[in-house]
Amino acid sequence: MARIVMKFGGTSMAGTERIRRVANIVRAQAARGDQVAVVVSAMAGETDRLVNFCREANPLYDPAEYDVVVASGEQVTSGLLALTLQALGCKARSWLGWQLPIRTIEAHAKARVESIEAEALIAAMAAGEIAVIPGFQGLSEDNRVTTLGRGGSDTSAVAVAAAIKADRCDIYTDVDGVYTTDPRIVAKAKKQKAVTYEEMLELASVGAKVLQTRSVGLAMKEKVRVQVLSSFIGEGAPPADDLPGTMIVSDEEMDELVEKGLMERQLVTGIAHDKNEAKVILTRVPDRPGAVANIFEPLAAASINVDMIIQNVGRDKGETDVTFTVPQADLARAQALLEDRRSEIGFNRIITDSKIAKISVVGVGMKSHAGVASTMFRALSDRGINIQAISTSEIKISVMIDEDETELAVRVLHTAYGLDAVG
Ligand code: ADP
Ligand code: ASP
Ligand code: MG
Repeated sequence: MARIVMKFGGTSMAGTERIRRVANIVRAQAARGDQVAVVVSAMAGETDRLVNFCREANPLYDPAEYDVVVASGEQVTSGLLALTLQALGCKARSWLGWQLPIRTIEAHAKARVESIEAEALIAAMAAGEIAVIPGFQGLSEDNRVTTLGRGGSDTSAVAVAAAIKADRCDIYTDVDGVYTTDPRIVAKAKKQKAVTYEEMLELASVGAKVLQTRSVGLAMKEKVRVQVLSSFIGEGAPPADDLPGTMIVSDEEMDELVEKGLMERQLVTGIAHDKNEAKVILTRVPDRPGAVANIFEPLAAASINVDMIIQNVGRDKGETDVTFTVPQADLARAQALLEDRRSEIGFNRIITDSKIAKISVVGVGMKSHAGVASTMFRALSDRGINIQAISTSEIKISVMIDEDETELAVRVLHTAYGLDAVG
């Protein structure tokens, strides 16, 4: 007997027909004698629809009320899955975020899970009942509904898995694993048998939305075994216990897989893209100590995440241009904050551009190998793609390019690093 958390994403839950497929997968897992908790997303498109209602009702919406609205999508699917499982003869019930409860910090719309009361859940599962839990939602200390940020059901699933000490957390989605890049962009992308936590964390943080970044960080911290696999499977498909998807593994496990010849050691694990950032250029900023602090302090105080930063070498008259990126959703706020401080910062103009994309190459092999960056720059230049900014970490290189060139850049790099599947 194992204890398994199964998470199903929006595409898998889109409509009663698909929910029936999901219920059958859940029933098959329970029929193996396992204790099962299921975490579900809202139907595909539903959260976007609810977000739009909030914007229409009040463009400057209160995040606490936004959470009340957007959390509702998952309430519907959790109830529907419990009903469908009951129709298949299974014992099942839903546990809403506030009923367990899933305690989070108060930061509405981007809350973080603090703790999960798991006792009742474990008792129900031990009594043979399938627990169905809406993802994405939680409860703040002052008993208001919170949500965990877009894509947050992955994090709910990992948090539940940690709380009930599950043997595995299976993330069922609309692709059958983690690929070398988004398989919807590159048809020759290759499915990976395993990816390390560190690489997956980096890939998710630079735009590979197959897992929410926070879910990977939490899985790494709590040592949760995570598998990414498809819910769109036929009758004869291998069971999840045979690990048909992609496992997220520790460095040691990866070494073992390589030793056994089950994985090849790769320089580059994956390529990701992100079209959700915007570029800001402040021109003619004074080139003196404190100038950049004056720019970034107000942004930090407003919880606006700044990503790539370039400060050009000072030019005449002790002035310089400062370029950086912020999430597109925060661009208007960032611009207003900077305009308010124009005289204090002392810049001349603000130039913004939302038509940019960030392309990132990730791989632990970079720690020990030179030449990964130059391969990237040469491959892009050979196709006439201009690089507007560069940033790096120990296992990642990112470049900013024109948004229209995103797909081309991802394909070109996939080939340049020898990642294309043959045949
Ligand atoms: P869900 O609704 O199940 O949470 P998401 O849409 O959030 O699903 O994530 C799955 C999608 O992630 C896939 O359809 C795919 O287009 C995208 N994706 C991006 N990068 C990758 C990658 N490296 N491997 C697999 N899928 C990826
Ligand atoms: N429904 C939420 C979203 O669309 C959470 C999730 O699906 O993970 O962001
Ligand atoms: Mg998702």
